[in-house]
Amino acid sequence: MNKESRYAKQMQFEPIGREGQQRLMQSRVAIIGCGALGSAAAELLVRAGVGTIHLADRDYVEMSNLHRQQLFTEADAEVMNPKVVAAYDRLKAIRSDVEVMTYAEHVDAMLMEQLAAQCDLIIDATDNFETRLLINDAAYRKGVPWIYGACVGSTGRVYPFLPDDKEAPCFRCLLPTLPSVNATCENAGIIAPAVQITASYQCSEALKWLTGERKAMRRKMLHFDVWNSGQMEIGILRMKNGQCMTCGEVPSFPSLSRDQADKSAVLCGRNAVQLMPGAGRKITLEEAEKLAQKLKLKHKRTPYFMELHYEGNRWMLFEQGRLIIHGIQDMEEGRRAFHRLFG
Ligand SMILES: [Zn+2]
Repeated sequence: MNKESRYAKQMQFEPIGREGQQRLMQSRVAIIGCGALGSAAAELLVRAGVGTIHLADRDYVEMSNLHRQQLFTEADAEVMNPKVVAAYDRLKAIRSDVEVMTYAEHVDAMLMEQLAAQCDLIIDATDNFETRLLINDAAYRKGVPWIYGACVGSTGRVYPFLPDDKEAPCFRCLLPTLPSVNATCENAGIIAPAVQITASYQCSEALKWLTGERKAMRRKMLHFDVWNSGQMEIGILRMKNGQCMTCGEVPSFPSLSRDQADKSAVLCGRNAVQLMPGAGRKITLEEAEKLAQKLKLKHKRTPYFMELHYEGNRWMLFEQGRLIIHGIQDMEEGRRAFHRLFG
């Protein structure tokens, strides 16, 4: 059986054909975030035959992910597998000849630019504006398209940003009018069908771009609600800002500036804060393990992280020094707790 017969039905679809399939098999896609949207997009693109997938996500699998994050199982949640590690195994089981590159780390400017330089397209599967601005700046600097996707509750939005379309706005141009997803995701929850549809629309745009069907791509932002049966397309061309710092006449790409911006943050909907080693001291896994043994704290070490319990909260320390404290929702409180434990 030759390799192409696997894709026979897809090649029968005339806009793709044999030539489109060949292009897909040579293409490289970066998926930023491997939660609900990232899992769904990765599976669709791997099954479609995309040659190389770069997956970036800093998180690990938890039981509360399983209702919507399709690549993961109870076994992944039990051992708190990093999402990209669990995803790698599942994607290789689906298709053994796919190249999957994984990045179990916080996506910063350097990683984002590196991925934009190596890929033909970027899929947004993040849950926050800051990372989308970073994707936007890296994509426009490198001239690589990215497909915006956002979902909350039963609603979703999708739009393909194409840097060489000089009439169309970029994500930064739209910021003044976008609803704050960060403000709503803690309260609104999310249902899996909204995720699946968002990812499906994103991957449809991805397949069009990668197979050279650019004329079929959306020029209006799609907004839908699967619960209340509403759908609309929003014309956004008039929102192009000629002075935009990303897509204007004199771009400065502010999100890519190398000054170690502190990426510490309250994690949306997680009852947790994330502390980055950037400004402060970097704690190694060895150091944390020794301290936990000395203080007789309940703890567990895996190849990827160290989990410990301190003052009634669950701490997760990762190899790069990134720390998540579950049970604390205030940055200052998080920093004080850090200094109480590590000095
Ligand atoms: Zn812009």
